[in-house]
Amino acid sequence: MNKRKEETQTVQTGENGRVSITHADRVVFPGTGQTKGDLANYYMRIAPLMLEHLARRPVSLVRCPQGRAGKCFFQKHDTGGLGAHVHQVSIREKAGELKPYLYLDSGAGLLDCVQMGTIEFHAWACHEDTIEQPDRMIFDLDPDEGLDFEEVRHAAADVRARLAEKGLASFPMLTGGKGIHVIVPLQRGHGWDEHGAFARDLAESLSQAEPERFVAVMAKAKRKGKIFIDWLRNQRGATAVVPYSARARPGAPVAVPVTWEELPGLSAASAFSIGDADALIERAADGGLQGWGIAEQPLPGV
Ligand code: ATP
Ligand code: MN
Repeated sequence: MNKRKEETQTVQTGENGRVSITHADRVVFPGTGQTKGDLANYYMRIAPLMLEHLARRPVSLVRCPQGRAGKCFFQKHDTGGLGAHVHQVSIREKAGELKPYLYLDSGAGLLDCVQMGTIEFHAWACHEDTIEQPDRMIFDLDPDEGLDFEEVRHAAADVRARLAEKGLASFPMLTGGKGIHVIVPLQRGHGWDEHGAFARDLAESLSQAEPERFVAVMAKAKRKGKIFIDWLRNQRGATAVVPYSARARPGAPVAVPVTWEELPGLSAASAFSIGDADALIERAADGGLQGWGIAEQPLPGV
């Protein structure tokens, strides 16, 4: 191919115009070869689906301006210069200080971030106008090295069953990395203390019932051969990777919503990559995934 050295690609986004992607032919994923332009095209196509889960939530970015093999950093604050479609919201941090955070509400905003070297998007469990009212609970299942994905699938099913006992519907997501997130949409009406405590109690009850399989504390030493049920994603200020985000991992995998019915047939958390936009869009239109992540349910006991 006869590409110019510093190719610039203009991406047309549905709602509000264009974003220029410079160095579109720069390889972001060495080994498999996907470029910054490929990443931009992926996000352009997937934006409508992704925004259902990301729009107006405070967001953190994993930026790798030199590609995933270079130096990457996790960016929480708005330090300026991200682009015209990236918005700012002031949030009071633990220390009491107001800090500028980021949020997006358009495909153009996603692409502005890609232009600035973003690969991954992570979001808070609340929206920017209701920071003190979490509306999504996440159980992040992290297998110890060497555990089969099958163990993670079983763990996810067990978390689902425990939630169902409490009357809560939940939805599984492949993270694109090693694990599964079990996601519980919740109506607003409770605070972070109740949110975190409910998630902790559920994780602890599973680890107490089956201590040989599950652990609910972060300490690495206690995780040998087990699955860590990370409930800490449910604390104020914590983030989790957003459905349909690409991951800065080998092969350009993506985080993907799946159904409970299909989960037993999936062999890895990295089953889909940024090359699969067509398949992901088709899947989302299919019966099984309609309504994924949507349920009108309050936190029990509130
Ligand atoms: P995997 O399935 O491979 O575990 P994951 O997205 O769950 O994928 P984790 O390493 O378990 O990855 O991280 C859990 C969450 O912690 C991430 O989704 C992210 O939102 C948050 N996180 C990751 N790195 C940082 C960081 N440097 N600073 C703050 N939060 C982070
Ligand atoms: Mn995880």
